[in-house]
Amino acid sequence: MTINQAAESADPEQGGPAHLVLVHDVSKFYDTGAERVHALREVSFDVSRGELVAVVGRSGSGKTTLLSILAGLERPTSGQVWFDGLELTDLSREGLRTLRRERMALVFQSFALLPMLTAAENVGVPMRLARRPAGFREQRARDLLRLVGLEGRTHLRPQELSGGEQQRVAIARGLANNASLLLADEPTGQLDAATGAQIMMLLRKIVHAEGMTGIVATHDKALIDLADRVLTLHSGVLSEERVAA
Ligand code: ADP
Ligand code: MG
Repeated sequence: MTINQAAESADPEQGGPAHLVLVHDVSKFYDTGAERVHALREVSFDVSRGELVAVVGRSGSGKTTLLSILAGLERPTSGQVWFDGLELTDLSREGLRTLRRERMALVFQSFALLPMLTAAENVGVPMRLARRPAGFREQRARDLLRLVGLEGRTHLRPQELSGGEQQRVAIARGLANNASLLLADEPTGQLDAATGAQIMMLLRKIVHAEGMTGIVATHDKALIDLADRVLTLHSGVLSEERVAA
């Protein structure tokens, strides 16, 4: 099967291609003054619907670059990426922004919450951008904050919440618009081990419960154990280790 057939082969059960994400021969170079940095080298893999994939590798191995390309925040130097049958390199910047807003949940190490807004208002931000009415936003924010275990804390601002609670708010915000792909870049990097393990279990639960697909860059043993698959980056080269069943 050619790569195009793979990208387009519709799965009648799912109403789309069998793979949610397909990465083919992606390389990314950065030219910085005298040097060319090879952040990714001919990376290929696919992710099926419902999978939770961990991307591991030491600092500088290309994890953030890979997630940025999957999110359409960066373009590959060469190679192709499909998301649900759409080739990202065919989309305009505005098309990518819309795709990100409507189909992807992005979670970062830094949480990136707005400090002046309450937990519920932060969760409501993507729904505001999607012009959802206030009543709908409030109800959904309450439901999502309950899902991440923060019922009763919806009215608090980020600085009144612990790091783990802030990350839960960020995850709830990512879920607000029914994303199909969760992309998380070292989401437990600023948390202690026990809190990090709870966040990873939450991500695992959400991917299952919400029928999502997850790709998470992490050093965290807790997620590596919970993931369906582990992809390893070494200086931009990807290899796959099957998780023992
Ligand atoms: P990781 O997330 O695994 O730490 P990154 O994807 O951030 O790795 O970085 C991979 C390599 O690409 C590193 O050598 C990094 O310095 C380089 N790099 C990343 N972004 C840029 C950029 N915007 N300009 C130049 N080099 C970059
Ligand atoms: Mg990184």
